[in-house]
Amino acid sequence: MAEEFNAVDIIRTKRDGNALSSAQIAWVIDAYTRGVVAEEQMSALAMAIFWQGMNPRELARWTEAMIRSGDRMDFNGVPRPTVDKHSTGGVGDKITLPLVPLVAACGAAVPQLSGRGLGHTGGTLDKMEAIPGWRAQLSNAEITEILSSVGGVICAAGEGLAPADRKLYALRDVTATIESIPLIASSIMSKKIAEGTDALVLDVKTGIGAFMRDPDQARELARAMVGIGASEGLRVRALVTAMDVPLGRAVGNALEVAESVEVLAGGGPADVVELTVTLARHMLELVGVDADPVQVLASGAAMDSWREMVRAQGGDPDAPLPRAPIIESVRAVGPGVVLSCDALAIGRASWTLGAGRARREDDVSASAGIEVLVKPGDEVAAGDPLLILHAEDAERLTRAYAELGSLDEPGGALTLGPRDRPDLVQPGLPLIMDVIESA
Ligand code: URA
Repeated sequence: MAEEFNAVDIIRTKRDGNALSSAQIAWVIDAYTRGVVAEEQMSALAMAIFWQGMNPRELARWTEAMIRSGDRMDFNGVPRPTVDKHSTGGVGDKITLPLVPLVAACGAAVPQLSGRGLGHTGGTLDKMEAIPGWRAQLSNAEITEILSSVGGVICAAGEGLAPADRKLYALRDVTATIESIPLIASSIMSKKIAEGTDALVLDVKTGIGAFMRDPDQARELARAMVGIGASEGLRVRALVTAMDVPLGRAVGNALEVAESVEVLAGGGPADVVELTVTLARHMLELVGVDADPVQVLASGAAMDSWREMVRAQGGDPDAPLPRAPIIESVRAVGPGVVLSCDALAIGRASWTLGAGRARREDDVSASAGIEVLVKPGDEVAAGDPLLILHAEDAERLTRAYAELGSLDEPGGALTLGPRDRPDLVQPGLPLIMDVIESA
């Protein structure tokens, strides 16, 4: 059968800075998924989009075409409004774990179809898989059943969800075309819209440990995603939040599960609690559920939902979490003040310890990671523990120390200075920087 368009013409149109027609976009994504548009042609088109961008109409059509490349979930049978959250990823970002049961306990349903981590930020499924017995793979019928009964489900996104994105993302990864706002926005939103949720809150992270280091770029990405969502009839809002320092204390899979359980038990680090509750408020508002997440958290109902959610997926919420054979503290040699704590360096060191993967097919360690006991501005005494490293073997531990650098030289993961120089403390970003809604 003759093809409707020619890939070379489409590449040339975009290369020369012109807009693609909606029909051209529908064809090129479909033909790429079918294998008619070759990888080298899609690489050239992705690079042309990287340089020339896409207008809002092109972006909406591009996203729709990616959604149409696969299945679209349907939660019409679930007797609660559905709302999800997506984070662009950060070091110690375990918010999904306490957030899903919290929002479920408030009365909404949260279908959190997640992926695994790649690079220095961890993946939600990797964290949940630290829980003995817990299984990520669920059938569509199981997802609907758990959503209806418990109200929250965290599971692996099926292969059938936006397959065009799966193929294109792998190609972008090896052609230096990941860092394009329209390509990132359409990639994320195609998967979230195909997931079939009624509403979505986006947590767009910014700072050294984030994908979008520059706050203005993070805002631009947030606006692009909100625009796509609105054009698809999704109720959507984006928060731009800080990722200059790790979120909470725990970085690493089992460590982050333990910290999430602390939050559900009414404790946990203040930043993790604040972000969880703030995101929950926005999610509930979007679907018109009138509940106070602070009260629900304090009542223990979110912990009950967590336990039910874990059990519904074969996990044992009471089983001890995996513990690394080597646990070592990094201590302050003298008194001082913490000047900086670099989320990227901590994330990379935790990844080096085995908490993250370099390639999609790699395994991760459930027990490896880092506890970060201090934040910039904290005063410490000689001998105080600053970091606790959890490692499965001595070789990885040595490499993680190299990644962390020195405590008293600039450029390290954590730097200390004299107590009488608080002016040297690196000013941090406010946790919640912006809320972006559709115009
Ligand atoms: N995450 C995605 O799902 N897609 C991107 O393009 C970048 C991050």
